[in-house]
Amino acid sequence: MSSAEPQVAATGVPTTAAAEPQVTEPQALPSVATKHIVVLGASYAGLQATHHILRHTISSLPNKASYHVTLVDPSTTWFNRIAAPRAIVSEAALPLDKVLFPIAEAFKAYPKEQFTFVQGTANALDTTTRAVTISKADGTTESISYYALVIAVGAASPSPLLGVQGSHEHSVTAIKAFREAYPNAKSIVIAGGGPAGVETAGELGQALNGSAGLFAKRPKVIKTKITLVTADKKLLPVLRPALAAKAEKLLNRVGVDVVYNTRVESTLPEFAGRIDSAGSLDSVLSATKFTLSDGTVLDADIYIPATGLSVNTKWLPRDLLDDRGRVANDKHLRVAKAGARVYAVGDVGAHGRGGAFELMQTLPVALVNIDRDLKHDATRESGNETAPKGKDNEFDNKLQESQLVPIGSKGVGAVFGWKLPSFMVWLIKGRDYMVSRSPGTVNGDAQKKPIKWTG
Ligand SMILES: Cc1cc2nc3c(=O)[nH]c(=O)nc-3n(C[C@H](O)[C@H](O)[C@H](O)COP(=O)(O)OP(=O)(O)OC[C@H]3O[C@@H](n4cnc5c(N)ncnc54)[C@H](O)[C@@H]3O)c2cc1C
Repeated sequence: MSSAEPQVAATGVPTTAAAEPQVTEPQALPSVATKHIVVLGASYAGLQATHHILRHTISSLPNKASYHVTLVDPSTTWFNRIAAPRAIVSEAALPLDKVLFPIAEAFKAYPKEQFTFVQGTANALDTTTRAVTISKADGTTESISYYALVIAVGAASPSPLLGVQGSHEHSVTAIKAFREAYPNAKSIVIAGGGPAGVETAGELGQALNGSAGLFAKRPKVIKTKITLVTADKKLLPVLRPALAAKAEKLLNRVGVDVVYNTRVESTLPEFAGRIDSAGSLDSVLSATKFTLSDGTVLDADIYIPATGLSVNTKWLPRDLLDDRGRVANDKHLRVAKAGARVYAVGDVGAHGRGGAFELMQTLPVALVNIDRDLKHDATRESGNETAPKGKDNEFDNKLQESQLVPIGSKGVGAVFGWKLPSFMVWLIKGRDYMVSRSPGTVNGDAQKKPIKWTG
């Protein structure tokens, strides 16, 4: 497989210098006198935060014209990666235009004086001068001063099939090639027993092997040997053991075998299933030889690493990170060590365990506190830096059992500790991987109403 050559940036994600034309017209960034709000990362967290700030926060501030929002992302297009396990199967299973959305288009309603989208990658942050350095897609580098900063750079999945790494074009190229290749594979290995690995195995098992009959445990004919390897002793860490055991049964029903307590130690080629260090996609679909932690050597025609996500924070000052490399924000989603009006939202933050489900609880917390901080700063007496009056919104991290995992035409799941029957998991998520909600996330309809906070 060949592709445009992405470069690997300091962030560890490929930049997009040669891969995509810049879609936004070159524009002068706002003057220093402007109160410049910079949002880094345009995905579930960053897109929604930007819309809320533009629609509701700024419109309720005095002197609205003095604010400008800049949204930065290496990709011009948002990839709804939650739907990736179905999207990689075929265009008939889930068309790409249901999971890919141009970002600039979704913000065209805002006046140019108020909003800029920059295709680029943040690669340095100076909290003393309050400036972030952006490597832009046109090859230039720019230092942008900020009045407020929202860090929403998330976490990357190792496989470009399951999420963007730099430009969305790498994922599109990889998905199209995968759709062509996998029906001819005799063996597929997927690493990772979390929801991404289980869902991907279930989708591929259903597509390749079909489902077992009513009283059977496995399909009669196994067209492709699919193995899911997990280092853990059970699948789906967020869910209770009974649901994890049921997930294995459902995987078996579509011809997937699960291997527990085993880690993929090394692969040949080294970058199998991933974009290599030179930025080439050639190894994404290569036949792979694995060495497992128990010493077994395994061959597969296709390898999909669906192991944990890695946070995109290598470029940030070390003292802003916790020991897992996440941005050390507090329960108000502020990053106190970075100074006033700096927030970390979404998977990048240390506030919780991550996930889009959790974001539904944490995003309103951040948006309310951004609102409060900006209002306070706009109305405070000069020199008076005290915190806003009243109570901050805060995230009560209870680590509830909430996860929906479709497996073929069935699924397992729980919401706030309540187990859901298989058909409900299918109805809520498995039917279409909830892509009907994608347009609202990117175009701001999900943020039509301001978040109400009574304190
Ligand atoms: C296959 C898969 C399935 C999933 N399914 C579910 C599910 O069913 N339910 C659930 O709750 N969660 C699910 N998740 C997790 C969910 O996708 C994440 O919680 C969600 O993506 C987090 O959103 P985010 O905006 O914080 O970060 P991300 O979605 O990771 O987005 C980060 C954005 O920042 C950009 N970026 C990265 N580095 C930089 C930089 N240096 N400068 C500027 N921009 C940068 C990236 O290009 C990206 O657009 C799934 C994840 C995967 C991989």
